[in-house]
Amino acid sequence: MRLCAISVDLDEIPNYFAIHGLEPSAAASTAVYDVALDRLETFAEAARVPLTLFAVGSDLSRPASAARLAEARKHGHEIGNHSLDHRYDLTRLGAREIAEQIELGAKAIERATGEAPVGFRAPGYTITDEVFAALAELGVGYDSSVFPCPAYFAAKTAKIGMISAAGRASRSIVDTPAVLLAPTRPYFIGSPYWTRGSGLLELPIQVTRGARLPYIGTTLTLAGPTRAGILTRMCLGEQLVNLELHGIDVLDADDGLEALRPHQPDVRVSRARKLETLHVVVEVLRGAGYSFVTLREAAKAFA
Ligand SMILES: [Zn+2]
Repeated sequence: MRLCAISVDLDEIPNYFAIHGLEPSAAASTAVYDVALDRLETFAEAARVPLTLFAVGSDLSRPASAARLAEARKHGHEIGNHSLDHRYDLTRLGAREIAEQIELGAKAIERATGEAPVGFRAPGYTITDEVFAALAELGVGYDSSVFPCPAYFAAKTAKIGMISAAGRASRSIVDTPAVLLAPTRPYFIGSPYWTRGSGLLELPIQVTRGARLPYIGTTLTLAGPTRAGILTRMCLGEQLVNLELHGIDVLDADDGLEALRPHQPDVRVSRARKLETLHVVVEVLRGAGYSFVTLREAAKAFA
């Protein structure tokens, strides 16, 4: 089995200001739904791949965003639940609030698209047994939040420290490094969740074989087409390549993100180069015999 699922977290632009501890700017605050979704669908059509779009429930209170998401679903893309408010501190809330964030996120998506989501992805790759318990209770079909990547974990910890040293407060949080012990391939979670058991199906975010380098949109778009091709070859042979992107991966500084430019190197890469990189990734995977599916289809194959 050689499957690849490309998913996109539709985190709207104010989230990025929050990560860097910056005051949100009104410019481009809805660029993910207004601009990125069109580009993502154009890419998906040209590359002949379905997408799995993880939407944040509260973004859908804006009618234009809700309508745009419904349209994407009609075009055959899967819509997953990325929680109600994208709280970076989701894992630190009480059980009841955690359940609400999941359930109301799903309800908002169902209202917008007419279909309840099957899969869940936690904000900021941060998940705990408490969140998994709520997912199981609510009958969620699969989760895709675990990112067992030492390099990413170290970089995130360092980044939060740097932001704090600059006198700002990042909204981003880091949880236990035990996530680094989790399997890198699809597994049924045990207790604790980084062990195998008979619980919910987890589809971990992709890392390369061996060195477990991060294999996500930001890394690939920063690497550029040639090096992204090399990173892709480092994943070949995996039964599932679970490539996670963000809406911002097809945007650049000219899309009104000038204020993020000093803080986020990927914003400085042109969207044309980013899209070229993503096409190279698809070509390498397809050339190696991979079929492209939604995460729901991948979950079915592993269940
Ligand atoms: Zn997110």
